[in-house]
Amino acid sequence: MAGATAAKYLRLWGGSGVQVTLVEKDPAYTSCILSNLVLTDSVAMSSLAFNWDRLRAGYGVGFVAGTATAIDAAGRKLEIATAGGSTTLAYDRLVLAPGIEFDYSGIEGLANADDATRANVPHAWKAGPQTLTLRQQLHGMRPGGTMVMTIPRAPYRCPPGPYERACLIADWLRERNPTARLIVLDANNGPIAEPESFRRAFAGLYGSLIDYRPNVTVVAVDPATRVVTPASVDGNGAVTSTLPTIATDVVNVIPPHRAPALLREAGLTAPVAAPLSTQPWALVEVLGYESTKAQGVHVIGDAASTTQPKAGHIANQEAKVCADAIVRMLAGRSPDPSPVTNSACYSPITRKEASWLTVVFSYDAATKRMVAVPGSGGEAPEWKTDHFEEMFAWFRNLMSDSYA
Ligand SMILES: Cc1cc2nc3c(=O)[nH]c(=O)nc-3n(C[C@H](O)[C@H](O)[C@H](O)COP(=O)(O)OP(=O)(O)OC[C@H]3O[C@@H](n4cnc5c(N)ncnc54)[C@H](O)[C@@H]3O)c2cc1C
Repeated sequence: MAGATAAKYLRLWGGSGVQVTLVEKDPAYTSCILSNLVLTDSVAMSSLAFNWDRLRAGYGVGFVAGTATAIDAAGRKLEIATAGGSTTLAYDRLVLAPGIEFDYSGIEGLANADDATRANVPHAWKAGPQTLTLRQQLHGMRPGGTMVMTIPRAPYRCPPGPYERACLIADWLRERNPTARLIVLDANNGPIAEPESFRRAFAGLYGSLIDYRPNVTVVAVDPATRVVTPASVDGNGAVTSTLPTIATDVVNVIPPHRAPALLREAGLTAPVAAPLSTQPWALVEVLGYESTKAQGVHVIGDAASTTQPKAGHIANQEAKVCADAIVRMLAGRSPDPSPVTNSACYSPITRKEASWLTVVFSYDAATKRMVAVPGSGGEAPEWKTDHFEEMFAWFRNLMSDSYA
């Protein structure tokens, strides 16, 4: 989301003076946005597929199919592993937007498991094959079965996403498997986004289906038996006591996230101050998203540490601020001193109704952070079908602004 948008706008605003090469490891992109609706058959996986063809043909973005493997910030070079071997790109400015990596280290049973074992306890938090695995496991669950899903401590990708997923699964279960139950283990002390809507949905609409447990994390999963060991956490996220195990039929573990190894190995991250000390993200200034650890390197999207949510809409906004700053810097000018971004998100509460969340951020020169503009947002007072329909228009606009 962030990388595609940055490539497009660098070419759009930089014109012929800026050469842009997009480096991408996958043959196509599957949108995480709306992917929870694949679990309940409300959206087809194929409708979430995007590629970079239009950026290449329409904007003259160069393309290298390969995996970025190492950054030489001092020499301004990027190492890339390709199908044919490897290649190196020299740059004036490097923009990194690799998304997230999962950190399984605190989950016994998965910490040292191979990829196939982990995939059978799907996170489905990068849309793709695991989304379909989780769908299949949900649909195949025995009548009256138990499903557990876990929510990592914030910050994580898409603050309302796990609560939205819980609602959609419960909505599906009440029609297809009404005696089943969904236990939600949340390492946070309550829904961290749209708290009014989700609390109301969990306690009211889905009161008999969802068993929501705040301040509880997962410390072990047996991939063979699907027995889950939960534990209480304190306000700093530290485990205080192990709780009785839960026998389950389906387990959806969304592990804690961190910036990918590429960034950590290049020294672009550092532990964020407590209570987030275990979640290293790339440190950036937010006028141009330049790394505070390496000159000429910018980090945007979920991998960056900012006060804004890790969301596709914000990834798109950060990309534009970054592209604008780079175009100005390449021309010997300074970045815009007062950028403004906005975030909007629709959350389906049922398979026909959605709520929403929105906020505007502006740069605060005193703290050098993006701060929420007072009165600029909030959550929808109610969920309804109108919002559900608006959600698809918002999605089309956002994806077309990023990929077309
Ligand atoms: C279930 C779910 C629902 C969501 N719903 C919403 C929503 O309603 N609204 C919203 O705003 N956000 C939503 N999000 C969040 C949104 O998807 C992410 O915030 C967004 O994708 C972040 O964009 P990004 O560019 O940082 O990373 P990504 O979109 O993950 O893109 C990273 C790209 O980098 C590539 N890449 C990674 N490493 C390398 C490498 N080493 N070399 C080459 N290429 C590499 C990847 O293949 C990928 O194409 C949702 C997320 C989930 C999981």
